[in-house]
Amino acid sequence: MSNVPVAVVTGSNKGIGFAIVRALCKQFPGDVYLTARDPGRGQKAVAKLQEEGLCALFHQLDIDDLQSIRALRDFLKEKYGGLNVLVNNAGIAFKVHDTTPFAVQAEVTLKTNFFGTRNVCTELLPLVKPYGKVVNVSSMVSSSALGGCSRELQQKFRSDTITEDELVELMTKFVEDTKKSVHEKEGWPNTAYGVSKIGVTVLSRIQARMLNEKRKGDHILLNACCPGWVRTDMAGPQATKSPDEGAETPVYLALLPSDADGPHGQFLSNKTVRTW
Ligand code: NAP
Repeated sequence: MSNVPVAVVTGSNKGIGFAIVRALCKQFPGDVYLTARDPGRGQKAVAKLQEEGLCALFHQLDIDDLQSIRALRDFLKEKYGGLNVLVNNAGIAFKVHDTTPFAVQAEVTLKTNFFGTRNVCTELLPLVKPYGKVVNVSSMVSSSALGGCSRELQQKFRSDTITEDELVELMTKFVEDTKKSVHEKEGWPNTAYGVSKIGVTVLSRIQARMLNEKRKGDHILLNACCPGWVRTDMAGPQATKSPDEGAETPVYLALLPSDADGPHGQFLSNKTVRTW
């Protein structure tokens, strides 16, 4: 078993994830795994970094596929006895003008952004080693979507006692409500991506609390963040930040020094803790 520190970035064959891997290759003292659902796209991305003189390793990971997540889990367990840095970056967004019915957009978006990310956390968080870092890439849109929720929902999502099961129930209810076309009546904002990212931010707050309760002595720091508005296939060419600039906050959180006791359980943008 290798004692080399190991970092894993989900959805990193392009966009912000790719830039996070690039930065980690330069700054993280250990093995860096670029992961992708499609091995061809993943290997191509690794080769691109190689041309830049950077050495990333590859492992397949489709966060929609529990088997794929578990294969990565078993690999990390066997080869490294765990992992040191996990960046949950993989995500999807329908384009604004996409005509796919809203209920379908809700189901598909929540499936990857919330349920997929949660499944990765369920399988990989127990493997995170003491002094490890976990970064969940959310979005400022989670904050604006929270503002668009009913007072009752806002209260639940801001609660310091909400459980993961309760959050899962709420995310499931959103999808069901869209199918019945009652989501607005039920207090939800009209954004599937926004609700999925509320899920990611709240999940991060819950997971950080759980780490405090169950693994206090392990000094693991877990946060959610927004990369900013970044020029990728998701956000388009008008966005203000380059992918490397978008990677800055996630990488800052992934490389917090081992004597740092925070941030933890926070939502950050531009390396600054934001009020939730
Ligand atoms: P992107 O260029 O579209 O890249 C998304 C990455 O996620 C791709 O590598 C994609 O793989 C991967 N992915 C999607 N579904 C996956 C799955 N089921 N399993 C594994 N990988 C999957 O988007 P981006 O702009 O870099 O976004 C990265 C993250 O930042 C997302 O979580 C996004 O919500 C968040 N974010 C972005 C912005 C922005 O302005 N760009 C702003 C706020 C937050 P494929 O190539 O196979 O599709």
